[in-house]
Amino acid sequence: MANWYQIDPQSAAKELGSNPVTGLTRVEATRRLSEFGRNELEESGARGPWLIFLDQLKELMVVILIIAAIVSALLGDYNDAIAIGAIVILNAVLGFSQEYRAEKAMAALKKLAVPTVKVRRDGEISEISAKELVPGDVVLLEAGNSVAADCRVLESANLQTQEAALTGESLPVGKTSAALLQPDLALADRHNMVYLGTHVTSGRGEALVAETGMRTELGRIAGMIQAVRQEATPLQKRLVQLGKILAAAALLIVLLIFALGWLRGEDLKVLFLTAVSIAVAAVPEGLPAIMTIALTLGAQRMLKRRILIRKLSAVEALGSVTVICSDKTGTLTENRMAATSFQLADHRVELQNRGSDDYRKEFPELRQPGFDLMLAGAALCNDAVMRSTDGSSKQSGPLGDPTETALVVAAARTGLLKPELDLSLPRIAEAPFTSERKRMTTVHRYDSDRADLPPAVHQACHMRPAFYIAFTKGAVDVLLGLSDTVWLSDQQEPLNGAWRDRLSAENDNLAANGMRVLGVAYRCLAAAPPKGDVEDVERNLTFVGMIGMIDPPRQEAAAAVSTCKAAGIRPMMITGDHPLTARYIASQLGISDGGTVVTGTQLERTSPAELAQLTESAAVYARVSPEHKLQIVEGLHRRGHIVAMTGDGVNDAPALKKADIGIAMGITGTDVSKEAADMVLLDDNFASIVAAVEEGRVIYDNIRKFIRYILATNSGEIWLMLASPFLGMPLPLLPLQILWMNLVTDGLPALALGVEPAESDVMRRPPRPPQESMFARGLGRHTLWVGVLMGILSLAVGYEYWKAHDPAWQTMVFTTLTLSQMAHVMAIRSERWSVFEIGLKSNLPLLGAVGLTVVLQLALIYVPFLQPIFKTVALPVPDLLLTAAVSSIVLAAVELEKWVTRRQSIAP
Ligand code: ADP
Ligand code: MG
Repeated sequence: MANWYQIDPQSAAKELGSNPVTGLTRVEATRRLSEFGRNELEESGARGPWLIFLDQLKELMVVILIIAAIVSALLGDYNDAIAIGAIVILNAVLGFSQEYRAEKAMAALKKLAVPTVKVRRDGEISEISAKELVPGDVVLLEAGNSVAADCRVLESANLQTQEAALTGESLPVGKTSAALLQPDLALADRHNMVYLGTHVTSGRGEALVAETGMRTELGRIAGMIQAVRQEATPLQKRLVQLGKILAAAALLIVLLIFALGWLRGEDLKVLFLTAVSIAVAAVPEGLPAIMTIALTLGAQRMLKRRILIRKLSAVEALGSVTVICSDKTGTLTENRMAATSFQLADHRVELQNRGSDDYRKEFPELRQPGFDLMLAGAALCNDAVMRSTDGSSKQSGPLGDPTETALVVAAARTGLLKPELDLSLPRIAEAPFTSERKRMTTVHRYDSDRADLPPAVHQACHMRPAFYIAFTKGAVDVLLGLSDTVWLSDQQEPLNGAWRDRLSAENDNLAANGMRVLGVAYRCLAAAPPKGDVEDVERNLTFVGMIGMIDPPRQEAAAAVSTCKAAGIRPMMITGDHPLTARYIASQLGISDGGTVVTGTQLERTSPAELAQLTESAAVYARVSPEHKLQIVEGLHRRGHIVAMTGDGVNDAPALKKADIGIAMGITGTDVSKEAADMVLLDDNFASIVAAVEEGRVIYDNIRKFIRYILATNSGEIWLMLASPFLGMPLPLLPLQILWMNLVTDGLPALALGVEPAESDVMRRPPRPPQESMFARGLGRHTLWVGVLMGILSLAVGYEYWKAHDPAWQTMVFTTLTLSQMAHVMAIRSERWSVFEIGLKSNLPLLGAVGLTVVLQLALIYVPFLQPIFKTVALPVPDLLLTAAVSSIVLAAVELEKWVTRRQSIAP
């Protein structure tokens, strides 16, 4: 491997067979992709199908069952041994097919999380998946990007990267392009290289890909980095806890049944198998796994609604969200900016909104002196890229931040094309835009002899010898604070109080109409600013004018806001934009009705104690910086809120991590924010957050449903087994029958409960308190009484037949219990509404699962060769009808319970 840092960029490019200006050709890139392979690290964490299958067999209960099968075989009971073996395998296949699906879904989600990179190929800039990078590619880097491969820096404008993951250094490291001659430099000292696994904290640059995939520095240590397994969610942890308690209880019950059986003189071998089967019935071992599956498949469903889940715990937490703090621009608004209002200090032009789609249409109104200076400045102090000026390429139109592209488009419509401006006034230095600074500055070389410059630029610079011109664009209030003169058509005048008031009033006026306003100012310089201190230029500026852009609220956002409110969730808007712009959009969307807007400055003056009060009452925050977002989360946390918070910038990462659910923007978000987030909105849309909350609630509801089902069902079996000796009866269920119910027939309906559609009131009830017990809202009481009821019903049937010396008595118990369970699962499809209201057809998989279970049960009873294995006898039709009739009592009883709760909640 070449020591890329020791050679200069040209030699590196030559060595890699690439051109630093035009990049690789697309043909060559395709060829290299097949030569070097995809730019990805080999995953060591994913489980292959065989491993998933073997994992099914490793569960404690299953191991006990396998031992039971072996013991049976040793005792010469081959029938039992084979039957237990078959049940274990059937169960493993069921578990496998689910987990395999979940694993595949998870892998698909991970794949989607791969960042995209901007590369130069064939002389054009395009965006590709980071996986398609090849050595020799020229990549463009800017603040917030993660570095997708190991690269040699070609060009750096204050480029700084965070390399903690690789070198342990937590402070950003500045990058240069010059060759470093010392041999054997440590990774941390190679200041002209950027590495996979690091990210750009500020500045901009271009770099040449040197190594990809497993040949990168990170790839070489990838084996050492343990693949991150999904951490258990709080609910999963509680389920594991519950499992332990139930296991202890099961042990007691098993001992009790064993002792009672022994006293009655039952066969020891049967007793042993019974004990094992009851343990299987009592411990809901599968629950945590079923939960993971429900969460993962839920995450996959969310993907259809344009939500990418990065941490499974987010799915669970979504159900408890009480506050959604959303950005304005792009999330609540369309982020399809169009500049419509152009204002100099003494002159203004208003245009009808003509959309930003066709930037070749012209704005003749703006061909007036002064406007050209403002628009040239706006286009120069701008990182948007014109993809093609002749509009011939398919990807026409500018690429970049919508605020900036709107300015480039407006300039182009008056004949000022950014690529040409960039050539005649080359950029030599810059201070990038950040949400804290709310401004951006670029410095350009100025040649007073050039004839191809907009005339106003010469006018602006003719007052004193000038070799450079700096343009600053940003929030008008900020620029006014940095300016001391104002541009009036062809001369500068001191920016006195009167002008300030007038310009601020104009700014407020535009903002009050919901516009996003950007000011432009300039300063002529005799000397280039010292490297790394461009911010020093931002003083004594001359204010030129302001541009108002409309950014309409998203159509679906207003509905989503009212859904939120009905669901007991407070929507809040947090924006860096002007307070009046924020207020306008907020009232349009119903977030607040022209109410208070809290500004970042106000937040800074608020004490921690007052903060909680403030965040409780105010819904709109403007002119805030990322650190204020952190403060807002803290204030809300103090009141016990569960906060979902959006963010897109590099500096939003801490707030995203602090929030209970950090949400990044899929389109406009930086890689850094995506990595810090729990979920990503692929369409940047506020409505998708609300959709995610709904999905989260549905998934939690469904998890509750199968907990309800499994616990009630299993306890029914145990009550039955416990009670029968007291009536003087032998064990009413045989071990194989218990195993069959628990491992096969229970499983199918439980899984189908996982796809139960949303209950009608899911977004009309308050959020679930995160600390809520699993047994809250009547679930504990329900499992208890339904379990007892099922036990009593099947025992009563069994007792009657046993007393009558009917040999079918055990088959009667077995069938009644199975059918009661089916009746139960139908009844609990909704926690609140009657099955007959929600309709049988609204969950076809469940209907299918119940049907299949009934067919299997009938097979066990009527198929001759299964009868000796499961010790069943063919029931005459009247007896079968009796079991069905008795079972439907369970359905009726649960419907009655729901009816009573419905009545209670209506009557105050
Ligand atoms: P938000 O994303 O919440 O709308 P930002 O932090 O992006 O807010 O912007 C805050 C302010 O900074 C805007 O009101 C605008 O005046 C200014 N601004 C936004 N984008 C740019 C940019 N690219 N260059 C200069 N100033 C900008
Ligand atoms: Mg923004």
